[in-house]
Amino acid sequence: MAVTSYLSMTECIFCKIVSNEVKASIVYRDEQVTAFRDIHPVAPTHILIIPNKHIESVNDLQAGDEPLIGHMFMVGSQIAAQQNIHQGGYRIIVNTGAHGGQTIFHLHLHLIGGQRMKHPMG
Ligand code: AMP
Ligand code: ZN
Repeated sequence: MAVTSYLSMTECIFCKIVSNEVKASIVYRDEQVTAFRDIHPVAPTHILIIPNKHIESVNDLQAGDEPLIGHMFMVGSQIAAQQNIHQGGYRIIVNTGAHGGQTIFHLHLHLIGGQRMKHPMG
């Protein structure tokens, strides 16, 4: 593993949530993904769905990650139903890079719902 990749994993707050070093309000977990409540929710339901392995952003996806990305959306769909926001509707957002407003460089889906959405996030 490249040194830069190892360093980003050891410093990454979301990797620490996956490994239970940092506490989070976890709503779902399996061998591929972890989902937890956003610490600064922009709507009544705001959950982050992340891969358990460190991927910095959409820019860093590899061909082999395709099933993982599909699984993240399936989990998003299931959590939306569990949280009872599926009928009203919701947003799934992936911010990428500085212009995209990404602040945590560990790939994540924002699942946001429970109210009619307003620009730009919730
Ligand atoms: P983004 O700006 O798309 O990178 O989103 C990062 C999100 O992570 C923001 O909505 C933050 O509120 C959220 N966040 C940052 N730290 C934590 C944490 N320790 N637990 C839960 N959510 C967090
Ligand atoms: Zn990470």
